[in-house]
Amino acid sequence: MLPQTQTKLRYTPGRMRAYELFTSVLVCALAFGCSPAKKPVATPPIDAVKADPATPLPSEGASQALPIDWSAFDSTSIRNPNDGALRGGVPLPLTAPGLQFNPGRNPDARYGTVEMVRGLVDAASRVDRELGGLPVTINDLSYEQGGPIPRHRSHQSGRDVDVLFYQLGPDGKPIDSVGAFFDRRGAGMDFRDLADPSDDVALQLDIPRTWLFLQALIEDDDAQLQDIFVAEHLRALLLDYAQSRDVPETTVARFADMTCQPNYPHDDHFHFRFFCAPDDIPKGCRDSEPMYPWQRQRLRDAGVRPLALAPTRKRAKAKIVTHEEAREAAGPMDAEVERWLELRKQWVDPPHPGRTYCR
Ligand SMILES: [Zn+2]
Repeated sequence: MLPQTQTKLRYTPGRMRAYELFTSVLVCALAFGCSPAKKPVATPPIDAVKADPATPLPSEGASQALPIDWSAFDSTSIRNPNDGALRGGVPLPLTAPGLQFNPGRNPDARYGTVEMVRGLVDAASRVDRELGGLPVTINDLSYEQGGPIPRHRSHQSGRDVDVLFYQLGPDGKPIDSVGAFFDRRGAGMDFRDLADPSDDVALQLDIPRTWLFLQALIEDDDAQLQDIFVAEHLRALLLDYAQSRDVPETTVARFADMTCQPNYPHDDHFHFRFFCAPDDIPKGCRDSEPMYPWQRQRLRDAGVRPLALAPTRKRAKAKIVTHEEAREAAGPMDAEVERWLELRKQWVDPPHPGRTYCR
């Protein structure tokens, strides 16, 4: 049941780094239509988060018996990822073993289908169990009822989620993840204050933990992962690693097939999309492309046929932010930040690798 003491949930007041604002603004500028940049807004305290008293809430491990009884939830993803809604949305726990919802994000944006939320919780807990380290940081999912959500074109029907990479600090040990860019060697930089070069912290992509999280999601037959959006050079690092390890061939092949670099290069986070759960399809859930042979087989086994995307309805379109406006909103930047922005131009265009499912 709903914990009566939600205030006990771990919650640290939001701390959005200046470059996270900058990169999120750049997302708008480069790839998405979204509102003009705003200063970071303090997120409401967790006890202010509305919860339907009839809905049990999977909360953090410390205050709720694990494993969570997922069968108590009945979610439905409606229509398209980029024009849809969510019924019976399940909130991602703010913290769970190996996982945290980004304390700098609005906790209203942490709802998804039960299949996706369970998949994320299970994948994070597998990494925690097998490799230890710090929790993976999950950014926005969808609103409780789905629908348009700031800073995203999709994330409307409970089947999209952004996840930061597992990261290592200068001492080679796990460090709290930030939305930093990572280069072809898997090196990144936590700029902290964009204008202050003395506070920069060198980072390294934590490939083993990041890979294990991916592997767990890919192998989760009930979650039914569809897409992994990530920059091509980071895909290559992860693929190399997986091929050098004792990973089932099918898992590696599916990773290779389901990974794409979209217009925004995704060198600072993953965007995952999940297929419609088979029982959501008769209720109007619609899948984008691609539809892989193994997913068709799953649906045949479940006795349903996928539905193509519905025509996108006219909705109020947010104003596009230009690159110049984004830079102005980010304020002054030191030389190292400028160097990274220059470097990123090398991989900003989506490659055309000629893969079957990635256009
Ligand atoms: Zn996203």
